[in-house]
Amino acid sequence: MLLIEDSRMFATVLKHGLETAHGVEVTHCSSLTALTGVVEAGGEYCVAVLDLNLPDAPNCEALDYVISQGIAAIVFTGSFNNRTREDILSRNVIDCVIKSQPDCIGQVISLVDRALTNVRTSVLLVDSVDSSRAELLGLLRQQQFRVTQAGRGAEALNLLDVGDGFDLVVTDIALADMSAYTLLSEIRQRHGEDTVSVIALAETADRQHAARFLQSGGTEFIQKPFLLEEFNSRIFQVANIQKRIQALHGIAARDYLTDIYNRRYFFQHGPRMVEQCLRRGETTSIAILDIDHFKRLNDTYGHEVGDLVLKAVAKRLRALVGEEHLLARLGGEEFGILFNGLDVAAANGFCETLRLDLAKGKITADDEELSITVSIGLATIEGLESFENYLNAADQFLYMAKYDGRNRIVSELTLLRAMAS
Ligand code: GH3
Ligand code: MG
Ligand code: MG
Repeated sequence: MLLIEDSRMFATVLKHGLETAHGVEVTHCSSLTALTGVVEAGGEYCVAVLDLNLPDAPNCEALDYVISQGIAAIVFTGSFNNRTREDILSRNVIDCVIKSQPDCIGQVISLVDRALTNVRTSVLLVDSVDSSRAELLGLLRQQQFRVTQAGRGAEALNLLDVGDGFDLVVTDIALADMSAYTLLSEIRQRHGEDTVSVIALAETADRQHAARFLQSGGTEFIQKPFLLEEFNSRIFQVANIQKRIQALHGIAARDYLTDIYNRRYFFQHGPRMVEQCLRRGETTSIAILDIDHFKRLNDTYGHEVGDLVLKAVAKRLRALVGEEHLLARLGGEEFGILFNGLDVAAANGFCETLRLDLAKGKITADDEELSITVSIGLATIEGLESFENYLNAADQFLYMAKYDGRNRIVSELTLLRAMAS
């Protein structure tokens, strides 16, 4: 982040405060010339705290420059010069803090905290009334949220399904095609309890709405009309908790040795992915991949070399599988891949690429060049069954692949081909 401040005292205190509170790197500039210098040198900044009066920029030129660069601005100033507070706040500034206010340093530090959280938070705004949606959009964007809009509940559900990683849904209570309760219950059914927070807004004196929405698993309820600061604080608090939950989930979802997803995450997220594929009318596939004769490798070179091999295989798989499909270490030397809408023929082609790539790769460990092969069981997913069933089918094919001599893929296709020949 940037700190643009010509007072040495404020600059020193703020830089220290911001760096210790948020662990971010603070670049300090004491003039407009220095500011344009660091930005033009290619520095990437998302938030700036800035003084309006600088020796070489007496008329808010630094603020104009920061805004023109798409950097979120928090104004920290002693006076407003020839612009009023309203004028400055109307220019997409997060907020203004006056230097003479008590605890002005603390205020700047918490505003920066808010801005750093908000820029990382993706909001889906749902409102069927164009004017009120436009107004909320303005408020959310001013607070630096990344916002996508939807005019109808069905459109919102589609956007959530294609999964652009929304953290928050902010919805009006009465949409053109459904109520916020219906939207909420669909979201909870499709995406679980805590992947996304849902906030409703309503212009109603009836408190039953708030009670009912929160009881149904809604995260927050905001009554209109609201004070701007109340709106900003409530939304930020929800975003902040959502981000913390996600951070904890992120840790719990990873395998300790290889840092790819673990078995728990595969079983949590897998069934939802299958449902989404089936709802889109697509068949998909699931594979279990097992390293051949891994015990022998462990016995020959030791467990530590075995660990290095597991890490190398996971890293290679991660690069090859990418973000599109779900890859996890299921346990030991066994990996699962749930494809995102690949039928068995396409998935078979994909697995063949993995198998060949892993077989030709060399893993350097303990001054040795090791090579491994894998066997893969691949099952097709056509209708809704329990997730264990799909995995058991893949496991049976894996067993056949081992029995047939390893370093191969077995799926329905293999059986069909065998019957045809
Ligand atoms: P197959 O070709 O039939 O799969 O034979 P295999 O030896 O690979 O399979 P088996 O299931 O007999 O042995 C798996 C071995 O994987 C046994 C276990 O000690 C080892 N293993 C499991 N987890 C780890 C681990 O985290 N690190 C290391 N180094 N080895 C592990
Ligand atoms: Mg094995
Ligand atoms: Mg095994």
